[in-house]
Amino acid sequence: MSKEDKASNEELWAGLGVDIAVHDQLIRGLAVLERRLHRKQNNRPLKMDYFNEVLSDLHGHRIAEIVEHKNQGGKLVGSYCVFIPEDLVLAAGAIHVGLCAGSDFPVQDAEKVLPRNTCPLIKSSFGYKLIKACPYTEASDLLVGETTCDGKKKMFEVLADYHPTYVIEVPQKKNTRNQGVFAAELTDFKVQLEQTTGNQISQESLQEATAKVENKFKALQRLFSLRQADPAPISGLDVLTITQIGFQDDVERFALRVNELCDELDDRVRDGIGVAPKGAPRVLISGSPMSLPNWRLHTMLEKAGAVVVCEESCIGTRLFSYLSEPEGDSLEEQLKAIARRHMSINCACFTPNHGRVEDVIRLAKEYKADGVIHYTLQFCHTFNNEGVKMEKALAEAGIPLLRVEADYSSDDSGQLKTRIEAFLELLGDIRGAY
Ligand code: SF4
Ligand code: SF4
Repeated sequence: MSKEDKASNEELWAGLGVDIAVHDQLIRGLAVLERRLHRKQNNRPLKMDYFNEVLSDLHGHRIAEIVEHKNQGGKLVGSYCVFIPEDLVLAAGAIHVGLCAGSDFPVQDAEKVLPRNTCPLIKSSFGYKLIKACPYTEASDLLVGETTCDGKKKMFEVLADYHPTYVIEVPQKKNTRNQGVFAAELTDFKVQLEQTTGNQISQESLQEATAKVENKFKALQRLFSLRQADPAPISGLDVLTITQIGFQDDVERFALRVNELCDELDDRVRDGIGVAPKGAPRVLISGSPMSLPNWRLHTMLEKAGAVVVCEESCIGTRLFSYLSEPEGDSLEEQLKAIARRHMSINCACFTPNHGRVEDVIRLAKEYKADGVIHYTLQFCHTFNNEGVKMEKALAEAGIPLLRVEADYSSDDSGQLKTRIEAFLELLGDIRGAY
């Protein structure tokens, strides 16, 4: 980056209230990671160029667009869960960004306020607000939380002391009554958005926004389905990173770029070009979300010769697998359809949650995975406990499973590497057993 670009970015960040010195350390760390992990991969698709650029300019161009939008009177809404409908935010004329954080960087500071035995995603997301290092958080006019798990729910109460925060209730049993409860919550959220933005959400604006968001979902569905090929035409690390970028990028541009990449991947699949040799061990990862820059497990697996072929995660299939189907022609019906779309997500916050186990078995077969890694963030009780059911069901289906619990530090990397290598060896021995 030129000196002029750096100075103009710093002016933007400072204008948002970002602590420039702390931010500088963060951004330097990210650049090192990207060089060490992404750039070291071989045989990547050419159309990764766009996503590489976004990654190396994570707080540059996109933040400038957001500031420009705000200068024109527009608003930014940040959220922490796929239960917050991006289309509702867009329909109010605002920009939406996902703020779930996957970095160890702010965790120590967060632990000065939150209990240490809290999931790292919660500590990291909260920590960024505390140390004022994330321009997306600082630029947000409204932060939107939800009640999916107790740790997050209580963190949002603390967060409200630092930033305007609104919380949506997510019911925890999937039934028709609760779909109605969630639709009512979305109706209240609509009113809040109208107050924040000063814009009314109409049937037309919501329809248009839903089409854009679901177009992004369809592009991601296409990208993921291309990974079913053997050899896999793209690495798991690259797809994970793309999905993470989708939480901040402009929704239409992102869909366009993903589709352009898919066109190239179509050719690769046709020509049998892969990022790992045909027959390389194929792994599906299921569990807690992996927010940017939580790339450790993918990197370890792929450096060990495997290829990650699918993520059953909110930074994966849980994000984009469901589309809304309004049954009538009114705003109320549209909100109900969006509520149904989100209540279809098989998050571990639901009880019971048989759907997720069924999804993992189905996806393992569709993506021809040799084994599954059940990934839980430390202190994430919902996913960790659900791992018990998952283990039993996968054993019955004959699908090899490795359970991993980790935080964002690299303290356990040696041990994790050994366990992964042993798992891949096992997959090599019993390949095709189910
Ligand atoms: S895992 Fe559950 S709580 Fe976390 S982002 Fe996904 S839906 Fe939300
Ligand atoms: S990973 Fe688990 S504990 Fe952490 S925010 Fe998500 S559901 Fe809550």
